[in-house]
Amino acid sequence: MIDLTEQQFFDYIRCPALYDMKYNHKLLINKPVTIKDILQKATLAYYNLTIQRVQNNESPVSFRALTTKYESFFKPYKDIINRNDYTKGLIALQNFFNYMKSIELAVFNINSAYKITHKDVSLQGILNPIAVNQKKQLEFLIMNYSNRTPDILEGELKLKYTIDQLAFNKSNRDLQVNGLRIHTVKNVKKDTDLLISKNDNDFNRFYSTLYNVGQAIQNNIYFVRDDHMCSSCLYRHQCKAWKRSDE
Ligand code: SF4
Repeated sequence: MIDLTEQQFFDYIRCPALYDMKYNHKLLINKPVTIKDILQKATLAYYNLTIQRVQNNESPVSFRALTTKYESFFKPYKDIINRNDYTKGLIALQNFFNYMKSIELAVFNINSAYKITHKDVSLQGILNPIAVNQKKQLEFLIMNYSNRTPDILEGELKLKYTIDQLAFNKSNRDLQVNGLRIHTVKNVKKDTDLLISKNDNDFNRFYSTLYNVGQAIQNNIYFVRDDHMCSSCLYRHQCKAWKRSDE
């Protein structure tokens, strides 16, 4: 039996050599915090506050309350992240706030843990936030604060959504998630949202990927994926595929 976190699973898929350095050789390189990380934290804080206020029958979250959260998350990194990024982040936050007001999505679930077991591999992680749309359907909700759409690799995003839908629907017989909404925050119009839904074929492909990754790790298979991922890889200077050309 092998237990994987979602991070380990995606790291192996990105590059088995990266997985080997990070988890077998314990070579930890922290990703620098960016304004997008601060915005994602502020977004989750907004969802959290919204849920609390609905439960307590209180007035909706104000932009001022959201800005206070944003500033408290920014403060520890004020010497690392420049002021220009802070200001751009504040504009993005306002766009996010306006979007949430206009779309009438009710967020009702954040930070739920899941565990999926298939054959001798288990996978654990955290579900994306879930909201109820105007048709009373459940949707996973992703805010993309990048100029690119989507921010994370497309294949990884699709697989993450497959996992989320499978995990949620397996553990909730009465409630089923209908789809995934990815909103690019710069565009505040509703029609810029990307809506995706998954089916049994996607779930079966995921199960076989999970099984294959588990088998490969148990058999110590760690090859390099020398491709476009390398240019943004934090482990490039330690990587056996690149060491000689970088020295
Ligand atoms: S630099 Fe490329 S080959 Fe090396 S670990 Fe990173 S992604 Fe893998």
